[in-house]
Amino acid sequence: MQMHMPRITRKIFTDQLIWMMTLGVLLGVIFPPFMIVLGVPAEYVLTPLFFGASLMAGLLMGVMNFGLVHFVVRPHLKELAERMAMIKTSVNHKTYQESEAHCMGNSCFIEAVSDDEFGDSARAFNEMVKALQNAHEVEYVYTNFSKALSSNLELEALSNEAIRLLIEHTVCSAGGLYIEHEGEMKLIYAQGIVNAKQLAQHDYLLKAMDGHRIERITLPENIQVDGLLTKFRPQEVVIVPVLFKQRNLGVFVLASPVHINEQSLNMIQMFRQGMGLALNNAIAHESLQRLAALDGLTNVYNRRFGLKRLKEEFKRIQRNEAPLGVLMIDIDHFKNINDTYGHLVGDKAIVNVSKSILHTLREGDVLARYGGEEFLVILPGASEHNCWNAAERIRRLAEDSILRVQDKEVRFTVSIGYVSYPQTEVEDEMALLHYADQALYNAKETGRNKVISFADLSGETEKLSKQQAEQPGLPS
Ligand code: GH3
Ligand code: MG
Ligand code: MG
Repeated sequence: MQMHMPRITRKIFTDQLIWMMTLGVLLGVIFPPFMIVLGVPAEYVLTPLFFGASLMAGLLMGVMNFGLVHFVVRPHLKELAERMAMIKTSVNHKTYQESEAHCMGNSCFIEAVSDDEFGDSARAFNEMVKALQNAHEVEYVYTNFSKALSSNLELEALSNEAIRLLIEHTVCSAGGLYIEHEGEMKLIYAQGIVNAKQLAQHDYLLKAMDGHRIERITLPENIQVDGLLTKFRPQEVVIVPVLFKQRNLGVFVLASPVHINEQSLNMIQMFRQGMGLALNNAIAHESLQRLAALDGLTNVYNRRFGLKRLKEEFKRIQRNEAPLGVLMIDIDHFKNINDTYGHLVGDKAIVNVSKSILHTLREGDVLARYGGEEFLVILPGASEHNCWNAAERIRRLAEDSILRVQDKEVRFTVSIGYVSYPQTEVEDEMALLHYADQALYNAKETGRNKVISFADLSGETEKLSKQQAEQPGLPS
């Protein structure tokens, strides 16, 4: 326990003055008898004048001492009080919403100039400000993390934002997010990692996930890993498993050019917790979206999604001034298959046709089940001629395919109608559908198991070949 003088007034400096003056008076009283003890004759000392002078000298000493305290000690305490008030204002003004508190930098610190309690309190104060700044940053980052995590339902956007924030608020300079899908790690997003896709195969990722704990890998200086993992020379790599209700969802990998400090690790830990729920939501959202876009029997896009894609592609193609082909495919006499072999065989035929079509399509082409045994194919960039080729390939594949049901062989054919934009000019994508449907109807009417172009029906092909005959340079 520290010893305290008893308090006299409400002000410590006034107490100090009173104590000083009391001491002065006491000295004034003691001084004359002390002089006698030292051998000064009593008749000189025991006079009212000497007594009064001693008293005044004592009082003066007390007042001067107080003055010194006032100038030497008081400014330090005043500065401390001012800085504290500044911090208080800073906190009160909710500067926590901003990335930098208003009292950042050095303006809030006190210079610790002495090696005593004043220096100690200045240092303690500075430490406290640092802790506050730290808490501020953590709160700011946490708010940012939470905002980013809760506002992103799309898996890729979420991962992108998550890695960006982690790189911004930790010492790490590169990172990637992987999710577990059917026992394998799948890269969702990476920034600054050279072979991010290849890294997914690394045992470390699965090991960290199975162990449910953060794995830290320090790379010794003498090991040359430049260019393998990151564009810079990493000193430390962390693999952080993301869990939701004890279930593994994936991992994020972070690489740092320097040792990962305590503060960064705390950030990573904090982030990891929020990430579990956000990632779970995004994965659930994605699979729901996929389910909503797919047809249950064939696993190709359903009609609603096919139409949505057609609209998008039509818009895109108009911007790029590229052609666009639309095919409508329908199984011939499908009712007979159902009636003869039953619905299950009919279903198999539908699946078979969807597979045959998929087999002929290229990347970027879209297949949707448009109705019962009817398919819509969107071929971005396909000219009239390309459409014809694609349709013919599909027709032949269907014709050649055999569906084996027990000991029976079921054969079927398809009819295809198509239209190609801009050879056939249209106002909107629905017109393309309508024209392809008309061509399909014509294929059915004129014998089935055939491909008909809408351009043939409307006489556009004839017009084109006439033009070509007149101007041989024109592309077919
Ligand atoms: P067309 O050559 O003129 O197209 O004759 P079609 O018999 O194929 O045409 P129609 O439209 O008369 O018959 C289509 C049949 O497809 C009727 C319907 O019962 C059947 N169907 C629709 N959806 C499914 C399905 O998911 N599975 C099965 N097995 N049959 C379906
Ligand atoms: Mg049919
Ligand atoms: Mg039909």
